[in-house]
Amino acid sequence: MEKTVRKAQRRQHSSWSFYQLRQFIQYKADLAGIPVMLVDPKNTSRTCIQCGYVAKENRSLRDNFCCRACGYVDLADKLAAENIRRDAVN
Ligand SMILES: [Zn+2]
Repeated sequence: MEKTVRKAQRRQHSSWSFYQLRQFIQYKADLAGIPVMLVDPKNTSRTCIQCGYVAKENRSLRDNFCCRACGYVDLADKLAAENIRRDAVN
């Protein structure tokens, strides 16, 4: 079912499902004794894991990452996951 939401309410409306997902993950992780760390997702798919260069142009194609500074190439989703892991560990 599609819902119409006013522009001012869009952020709050779309954020709710992520909040609920986070609650589910936290609940399951607590049961299993696994720590959950929150990581800011900003630029995780635009940041080169090799040299740290951040640019929108690193993602000229949706699924592929190609660093404009050092030429590192990877799958965009895999690279984002590695950046999230790195940020969680650091
Ligand atoms: Zn690079």
